[in-house]
Amino acid sequence: MKSHYRVVVIGGGVVGTSVLYHLAKMGWSDVCLIERSVLTAGSSWHAAGGIHALNADPNIAQLQAYTIDLLSEIEKESGQNIGLHMTGGLTMAGTPDRWEWLQSAYRTFQSIGIEDCRLVSVEEAVELNPIMSGEGLLGGMWADREGYVDTTGTVHAYAGAAKKHGADVIEHNRVLELNQTLEGWEIVTEKGTINCEHVVNAAGLWAKQVGRMAGIELPVSPLNHHYLVSDTIPKLEELDFEVPMTVDLEGFTYMRQDQKGLLLGIYEVDHQHWMMDGAPWEYGFELQKEDTDRIEKELIMGFERYPDLQNVGVKTWVNGAFTFSPDGNPLVGPVPGKRGYWTACAVMAGFLQGGGVGKSLAEWIINGEPEADVYGMDVARYGVFAENKQYIKETTGQFYSRRFIMTYPNEQLPAGRPLKMAPAYSDMTEAGCQWGQSWDLEVPLYFGGKGFEETPSLKRSNAFDIVAAECKAVRENVGLLDISGFSRFEVSGDGAEAWLNTIFATKLPKAGRSRLAVALGEDGRLKGDLTLFNWGDGTYWIMGSYYLRRWHMRWFDDHMGADVQVRDLGDEVCGFSLSGPNARKVIEKLSDGPVGDLPFMGCGAFDIGMLRCKVGRMSVTGELGYEIHCRMGDHITLRKTLLEAGADVGIKEIGFNAMLSLRLEKSYGIWSAEFTQGYTPAMTAMDRWIDFDKEGFVGRDAALAERDGNGPAQVQVTLEIDADGADASGYEPIWQDGNKIGFVTSGGYGHTMGKSYAMGLVDVASAAEGTDLTVHIVGVERSAKVIAPSPYDPKGKAMRA
Ligand SMILES: Cc1cc2nc3c(=O)[nH]c(=O)nc-3n(C[C@H](O)[C@H](O)[C@H](O)COP(=O)(O)OP(=O)(O)OC[C@H]3O[C@@H](n4cnc5c(N)ncnc54)[C@H](O)[C@@H]3O)c2cc1C
Repeated sequence: MKSHYRVVVIGGGVVGTSVLYHLAKMGWSDVCLIERSVLTAGSSWHAAGGIHALNADPNIAQLQAYTIDLLSEIEKESGQNIGLHMTGGLTMAGTPDRWEWLQSAYRTFQSIGIEDCRLVSVEEAVELNPIMSGEGLLGGMWADREGYVDTTGTVHAYAGAAKKHGADVIEHNRVLELNQTLEGWEIVTEKGTINCEHVVNAAGLWAKQVGRMAGIELPVSPLNHHYLVSDTIPKLEELDFEVPMTVDLEGFTYMRQDQKGLLLGIYEVDHQHWMMDGAPWEYGFELQKEDTDRIEKELIMGFERYPDLQNVGVKTWVNGAFTFSPDGNPLVGPVPGKRGYWTACAVMAGFLQGGGVGKSLAEWIINGEPEADVYGMDVARYGVFAENKQYIKETTGQFYSRRFIMTYPNEQLPAGRPLKMAPAYSDMTEAGCQWGQSWDLEVPLYFGGKGFEETPSLKRSNAFDIVAAECKAVRENVGLLDISGFSRFEVSGDGAEAWLNTIFATKLPKAGRSRLAVALGEDGRLKGDLTLFNWGDGTYWIMGSYYLRRWHMRWFDDHMGADVQVRDLGDEVCGFSLSGPNARKVIEKLSDGPVGDLPFMGCGAFDIGMLRCKVGRMSVTGELGYEIHCRMGDHITLRKTLLEAGADVGIKEIGFNAMLSLRLEKSYGIWSAEFTQGYTPAMTAMDRWIDFDKEGFVGRDAALAERDGNGPAQVQVTLEIDADGADASGYEPIWQDGNKIGFVTSGGYGHTMGKSYAMGLVDVASAAEGTDLTVHIVGVERSAKVIAPSPYDPKGKAMRA
C-alpha cells in the first residue's frame, strides 16, 4: 500500500467505485479506493439492480439518463459482464391526477432531452407486460432505456475500469480515523496510514460514522427495504421475451423479471429506520428477516397487479437497508468548512444515479466545479439544523413513505416542521397566514384565513382568488410581506471592498446605495443574483435567497480575502417589506428621518417607530417599495408598527405566492429557475449587470470570452400563454412548428394583467418578440407568444415613483 495518494475514496460500493472510475478516467490516476471488506459489501450486493429513467426532479432524471448510458461503456472498458437486461420499462398511473402528472412528466423528459419515452394506453401496457393486470390503471409511460443489471458485476466493472486507468483498489482494510493536515487528510487504516489531498466519503451504510471521523454530522439515515423473488412462473416460461421493468405507482411496487420468476420490490408506507447512527462495523453480507405484516397492504396490491404471483411460492426474501437524505437526493460535494473532504453518500438508487454522482464529483474535485447544475444533490443545501436526529428521522421517513405517493407542486409536507419561526409567526398565524418552508424557516405563502386548506393540485388551486386579492392590494394600495426568508451576510473589515470587488462582477454601490450584483463561478457561469448594500459606515450587506445560506457561505469562505469578515446574519436579522403606491405614506409616518426621500435603490438606517432599522428602497413586486430589516427580537413590534401605520389606507398582509406572481409580471428572474449555476450571464441577460472594465473578479476571463464570442445558443424570454385553468411551473417544453426550441424556467398567473405568463430559455432564432410558439401545460399543448419583458409597467415608473 502506498503512503500517499492524491485522492482516497472510502467505500467500495457502486458509488465509491464510480467516483474512482471517473477520477481515473479524467486523468487523475494517483487515486485509490479503500474498502472495509470486499467490493459490494454494503447495500450494493443485495440491490435489485433496477435502472429506470423517471424521477420527479429533472436534474436527477438527467443524472440517471447519464448513468444508464454509461453502463455498457464500463462493461466494455472493464471486460466485466454487468448482466445488463435492457427490457424497457413501464411506469403506470392509477388515478386521474397521477395520469395527468405522468403526461406532464413525459413532457418534462422531452425538455431535458430524454426522448426515448412515450405514453401508452393500459391495453398497450398489458401487451408489453402480459403478466400485469390492467385493473384500475389509467395509462402509463414506456421508456426504452430501462431494465436491470447484475449488481456485483456492475460494481466490479466500475472498479475494473478504474484500475485500467491506473487507480488502486485496496480491500479488507477499514478506515479507522481521519485527521486533517495542512496538505489534506491523514487516513489511518487497519493496514497503515495514508496521506492524501482529498478524501471522499462514499461509505454508504457507514457514511454517518465516516462523517463523524472528521467531525461532520451528515443528514443521512439507512431505512429498510424489501423485495421478494418468486419461484418460476409458467406464463413467463412461455413468453419469448423478458417482461419490462414495471413501476406501479399507486401500488407502491416495482417489478422485474428474475430468470423465469418475478422480483417484486416494495416501498413500504409504514417505513422502518435501521441503525440511524450507521451500520455496525462487523455487519457483513447478512440481511434482516422479512416483515410481511408491515408490508401486507402493499404486498396484496402487488399480488393483485401480478396475479401469477398468487400461484407460486416465494424463492427469496430480501430485507436490506440503504440510505436516504431528508429530500431523498444524494449528498455530494465539498463539505463546508472541511477543506478536501468530499461526500458521495445518501445515494438511494446507486445503480441508476451512481454514474452521474461519480462524474459530477470527479469534475468538482478536478476542475473546481461540476459541469451540470447539481444544487439538488449538493451537500451544502442543508444547514446545521439538518444534523438533528429527529429531523433526519422524520424527513427521511417521510421521503421513503412518499416515494411513490404523488406530491403536488402546491403541497406542503409536514415532516421536520415547524422548525424555525420568525417571532411574528404566531401573530401572523392568528391573522390567517398559511405557511410553507424554506430551508429551516417557516415562510408565509398567503393569508387565506384561519382554517383555510388549500387543495393539492397540478392546476390553479382554491388559493387562486386569495393570492389575486393580495396582488391587487400591492398594485393598488400597499402590501406587507415578512421577508425573514431572505439571506443577509454582513461584510466588514479593511479588505471588504477589495474582496467584494473580487467576488462580484458588478460595480459596487456607492455609500447609501444598493445594487443588484452578479457573482460568477470560475468558469463564468452564474453563482448568485444577489443584492449588495453599502451602508456607508464601512459595512456592506449581501442579500439573497435564504435557502442558499450555506451554499453561498461555502463559496465566500472558499474565496476569502485578507482583512475581511463575512458574517451570516440569517439567525439575527429579519424584517418586512412594504410595497405598493401607498408604501411611502405608511413608512413616512413612522420616522422623523428622511426615509420617504430615499431614492430608488437607496439605503440607510432609520428610526421606524420605536425601532432602529435598516431600510432599502426597492421591491421585487415592481412597485414603490421598502425593505425594512430589524433585529430578530424586534420582528413582532415591527409588524405591529407597520400594520398600525397602514391601517387607515387599508394595508394588507401578503405572502410569497403573491410576490411570485407580481415578479413574473415584471419578468424578474429568480434563483433555481431563471438563474442557476448551469447558465451563463448572456443566456439570462445578467450580463447587463457585469462591469467588464473591472479587473480581477472571479469568472472575468470566461465572461469576457462569452461577451466577445458568438453569443449563447439560447436566451431567456417572457411568454404569454393561452392557458386554461393551469399555468406553467417549470421544465415544460416549448415548441415552434413541432420542433422543440426551449423549455420553461418558471411560470404562473399574472393577476394584475389577467394573463398566464412564463419565462423560458429558447433558441436565439425563436426569441424575437411576437414569435408564435406552443407550450405543454400539464400535458396539454397551449399556444404561446414571445412578448417584451415586463408586461406590467415596462418602463418601471411605479417602482421609481
Ligand atoms: C433491497 C434493496 C433493493 C435495492 N434496489 C435497487 C435498485 O433496484 N436500483 C438501484 O439503483 N438501487 C437499489 N438499491 C439501493 C442501492 O443498493 C444503493 O443505492 C447503493 O448500493 C448505494 O451504494 P453505495 O456505494 O453508496 O453504498 P454501499 O453499497 O453501502 O457501499 C459502501 C461501502 O463502503 C464500505 N465502507 C464503509 N465504511 C468503511 C470504512 N470505514 N473503511 C472502508 N470501507 C468502508 C462498506 O464496506 C461498503 O462496501 C436497493 C437497496 C436495497 C437495500
